[in-house]
Amino acid sequence: MEDCLFCKIIKGEIPSEKIYEDDDILAFNDINPLAPIHFLVIPKKHIASLAHIEAGEEQIIAKIYNIINKLAEEKGFKEKGYRVIVNCGEDGGQEVMHLHFHVLAGKKL
Ligand code: AMP
Ligand code: ZN
Repeated sequence: MEDCLFCKIIKGEIPSEKIYEDDDILAFNDINPLAPIHFLVIPKKHIASLAHIEAGEEQIIAKIYNIINKLAEEKGFKEKGYRVIVNCGEDGGQEVMHLHFHVLAGKKL
């Protein structure tokens, strides 16, 4: 999507600190971290929010959770724990309208 910030990050038009990438998913550090570890995991396909997931797109959500656990293991916070947040829509506090999963770790939240 042309005017979407995270689509621009996916295309490399806006720089980001990427920590994981495959054909379907990108993970990168949040520019305004709220914990020692704070990254975002997003589908490369533009899905505006959790409320916009269509039939057949559920697989991407399952895959995102698998990647989150893989990164938790790799980065060494799987045992201590972490928080996954998805803000959805205006009342949910979503500012960027491209589905993203916040992953926070590295301190007691
Ligand atoms: P939300 O309020 O759930 O839509 O969260 C959007 C998140 O995107 C916030 O935590 C921002 O700090 C983060 N963010 C905004 N712009 C960028 C960027 N250019 N690179 C990385 N993270 C960003
Ligand atoms: Zn997008």
